Amino acid sequence: MTTSTSRRFLWWRTVDGTCHAFTADQAGGTDDGLCETACDHVVAEQDLVRAAGPKLCGHCLIVVGAGMPDEARWRG
Ligand SMILES: [Zn+2]
Repeated sequence: MTTSTSRRFLWWRTVDGTCHAFTADQAGGTDDGLCETACDHVVAEQDLVRAAGPKLCGHCLIVVGAGMPDEARWRG
């Protein structure tokens, strides 16, 4: 996927405990129930925990380029 550092990302946890970056436009849900990570993986919404955790995906970090997630943008 095409990315740019000006884009907003949210960090969500998948079932395996790793947090991936998702574009903020997926926060409200997607039509097909699938969310795309910044590292080009597709995860079903039902397998996502909409909260960050300590283990961040290294590939997503590189794509997002921001280093660490911005707590102010997390929901809940
Ligand atoms: Zn990732």
